[in-house]
Amino acid sequence: TSFGFQEVKEEEKSKLVGNVFTNVASSYDIMNDVMSGGLHRLWKERLVGKLSPFPGMKHLDVAGGTGDVAFRIYDAVYSVKRRALNKVDEASLEETQIYVCDINPNMLNVGKQRAAERGLRDNKSLVWVEGDAEALSFDDNSMDGYTIAFGIRNVTHIEKALAEAYRVLKRGGRFLCLELSHVDIPIFKDIYDLYSFQVIPNLGELIAGDRESYQYLVESVRKFPPQERFASMIADAGFEKVEYENLVGGVVAIHSAIKL
Ligand code: SAM
Repeated sequence: TSFGFQEVKEEEKSKLVGNVFTNVASSYDIMNDVMSGGLHRLWKERLVGKLSPFPGMKHLDVAGGTGDVAFRIYDAVYSVKRRALNKVDEASLEETQIYVCDINPNMLNVGKQRAAERGLRDNKSLVWVEGDAEALSFDDNSMDGYTIAFGIRNVTHIEKALAEAYRVLKRGGRFLCLELSHVDIPIFKDIYDLYSFQVIPNLGELIAGDRESYQYLVESVRKFPPQERFASMIADAGFEKVEYENLVGGVVAIHSAIKL
């Protein structure tokens, strides 16, 4: 009987832990929607559009968190198949590998849960890997694509993360980075500053019950190198064809580059 009792406790515990992760995920997703007015969805669509995913590709999404970018890449690959119908053979589709790498196992667990909700629990195309952007566990020249969305700002040594991105990409492989950036338009900049410093921390407190984390977020955006400087860091890592596109006047930027 004591064994039976233990079992119930275990079950309760995993349910509790599950709830905690669900709460984290839901407030995380809601905060993204509220802070960006839902725009982060469009920004991520744009990122994946620029990547032009293809069946059979090996892709690495770093700081992949709850899988938001990876699921979009997965959907894009499979929509190629739907459009091309018989032109894409099943074999190359099944060879598609999308690695979601994140340093935080809790975020990955939420991502796996979300995969299960989409009927992708044991899907072989999605691989969840705990790891650090600064020291990736993937082979040299092994990836067709590398994405990092709202992640590189949190990395301690940006240069190391860029060097690792360059190392794991194949020749011809594409680097894409979506990040909160710098607004340089008069008046709009003032409005954006007001929003960042006054509104965001209050939203964090109200919705996530966490003012400090969102204050940190605003400060980390200010410290992140402006578009041009970040572009030269990407070039310094060895990349070619470095470009960037500002969205909403530079509130976010998508930097892209190729390893030649
Ligand atoms: N890419 C997701 C998105 O756009 O919704 C998640 C972005 S979230 C703001 C930042 C993520 O970066 C977190 O999941 C965090 O655990 C992860 N992260 C922070 N430092 C990292 C590092 N050095 N290597 C890998 N992931 C890291």
